[in-house]
Amino acid sequence: MKFGGTSVGKPERMHHIVSLVSKETEPAIVVLSALSGTTNALVEIGNAIAKGDRNAAKQTIEKLEAHYQAFIKELVKSEDAYNKARSIVAEHFEFLNIILKISFSEALNKDILAQGELLSTKLFCVYLEEQKIDHALLPALEFMSIDQYDEPQIGSIKVKLTQLLNHYPGKKIFVTQGYICRNARGEVDNLKRGGSDYSASLIAAAINASVCEIWTDIDGMHNNDPRIVKKTVPVEQLSFEEAAELAYFGAKILHPASIWPAQMYKIPVKLLNTMQPEAKGTLIVEEAGSVGVKAVAAKDNIIAIRIKSSRMLLAYGFLRKIFEVFEKYRTPIDMITTSEVAVSLTIDHSVYLQEILKELEPFGTIEVDENQVIISVVGNEIAQTTDIIKKLFGSIRNIPVRMVSYGGSPHNISLLIAAEHKTQILQQLNKGMFGLE
Ligand code: ADP
Ligand code: ASP
Ligand code: MG
Repeated sequence: MKFGGTSVGKPERMHHIVSLVSKETEPAIVVLSALSGTTNALVEIGNAIAKGDRNAAKQTIEKLEAHYQAFIKELVKSEDAYNKARSIVAEHFEFLNIILKISFSEALNKDILAQGELLSTKLFCVYLEEQKIDHALLPALEFMSIDQYDEPQIGSIKVKLTQLLNHYPGKKIFVTQGYICRNARGEVDNLKRGGSDYSASLIAAAINASVCEIWTDIDGMHNNDPRIVKKTVPVEQLSFEEAAELAYFGAKILHPASIWPAQMYKIPVKLLNTMQPEAKGTLIVEEAGSVGVKAVAAKDNIIAIRIKSSRMLLAYGFLRKIFEVFEKYRTPIDMITTSEVAVSLTIDHSVYLQEILKELEPFGTIEVDENQVIISVVGNEIAQTTDIIKKLFGSIRNIPVRMVSYGGSPHNISLLIAAEHKTQILQQLNKGMFGLE
């Protein structure tokens, strides 16, 4: 059972989670995010220290500490529990204040980012203890790990987690941190922003759980981005493939990589609403449940690269040479289209853009368009349904499309557009594909 930032962000929400968790008949591992706003504040602190602006960092630390001091006053009632909570808060903020005096490094930054989940889980356990609810805290830093390519290894997670669980025969409630892990050098690291979903899925896979529940602030995966489009509705069921495409192509409710562990071990995933636990939410299993379009999502900050070469495209081995450049810089390609004289592809970060462009130069003329967005239309067998294609292109007639990816998977049709058209296209697709306004 994974609870996100807003689900633990207020003392009464934590109380509510405890009532949800204690209703469970099966043993449960509760995976918690940091309280909402905390990781953003920790990112700010890290950035300020990196820039050498220690005053700004100190101010953010003080503001955050005041927030936690107010939080624990409402979280627990007894003096004993309050004192415990107060010393936990003091310990973690003392750590942050010490960091202010140390010279900045990336490893130190990761330590800063880890404080949110360490705090939320420890405070949650203080409340469980006050309620006399038997539980055990499983430190994620003792079992969650990534290799030198930042990839989690289920095999080793499984071994370490099982060993930890074996210490507590008969125990029913376990609490652990989402997001944080150790890297190949043994340092504290994380699974990237929104990574608690990924933690939950990895844990579910590692222990072969009966279900992986992602509890959040909305009643499941909606058909469109509710932050942008007014009227959206929850999707009842998705296949692992459909959910993975939506997560990867921008549906913020799930971390982009969070589906594969559950899919690999065939563990059903449920997306549920903490604020409305009786709502059905979304079930993610092997079967899609129904045919047709399920949802659309948008992935921001995409860079499109076009390589034009009249000489080389027809020659075999040309694409391989281009792909090798991206492989060398460990930069995944999201979309690709080719014609006889050009190939267009997209990437989602610019970390090695300059190096990549330099190495592509000998292959032809290179054009780069930044600030693009991938719009993905996801559903079961949609690429085979002519009616869907007609509706899709009919509803976005007035919007210039830079690339189209069709037929790569039967579940997905992707369009690349300039960022300025994103809101409009999501709204028009909502009307055209789902009849919602
Ligand atoms: P948590 O803190 O619980 O992990 P997130 O903020 O990461 O929650 O994810 C939930 C949010 O995802 C929702 O509040 C919603 O605004 C956003 N979201 C974006 N796209 C979708 C979608 N297709 N369906 C549901 N929620 C979405
Ligand atoms: N606290 C982390 C973040 O805000 C991880 C998560 O919430 O999933 O990114
Ligand atoms: Mg999230």
